[in-house]
Amino acid sequence: MKLIAAKSILKANDQLAVENRQRFDAAGVFCVNMVGSPGCGKTTLLEALFSHLRGSLRLAVIEGDIAGSIDAERMEALGVPVVQINTEGACHLDANMTASAVAQLDLTDVDLLIIENVGNLVCTAGFDLGEHLRIVVLGATEGDDKAVKYPAIFQGSNALVISKTDMLPYTNFSIPRITADMKRLAPDAPVFQVAALKREGTPKLAEWIAEEKTKR
Ligand code: MG
Ligand code: ZN
Repeated sequence: MKLIAAKSILKANDQLAVENRQRFDAAGVFCVNMVGSPGCGKTTLLEALFSHLRGSLRLAVIEGDIAGSIDAERMEALGVPVVQINTEGACHLDANMTASAVAQLDLTDVDLLIIENVGNLVCTAGFDLGEHLRIVVLGATEGDDKAVKYPAIFQGSNALVISKTDMLPYTNFSIPRITADMKRLAPDAPVFQVAALKREGTPKLAEWIAEEKTKR
């Protein structure tokens, strides 16, 4: 019984995700779902992307967190329209929560919507939010074995961003190893290396996102 329930929840989620995507397409909004574990640097990466894209694309952000609004406050401080979702314990966002958050935004003022998912490499993989692109962020301090240990999220992503590369000299993280694993799981997904606080590598990622937007 439990297995059937879980399957039907996912099916309902997929249907809602399709509707979210239709909504984005109708409004000319390109949507990115950013996933990664807690502390991998998603919000700092968002800040960097905003600094690069602000001249060309109107950005909005949905922040998914179990509690609090620290990340939303950081985006708000930059003048980015932001909606905070508090999942109150749930360890991922779903398409229904996304739809509720999107209803709070005026999509006519948005070109690029980035959803920062709850920090989690596990069940975020199973929930389509209606995004056009899924980007998985992995900190150089987290270990290069994560694609092997959490394959679903890497397999289901359109790009891998290795963050905190300025920390590489202090770790045994192997760029070739994670790149090979990503290549095996998602052959078409590019791999980016960024040090977001220093804005290293982030212009290239911003450029790629903007390019992907033009393809839709
Ligand atoms: Mg964050
Ligand atoms: Zn979850």
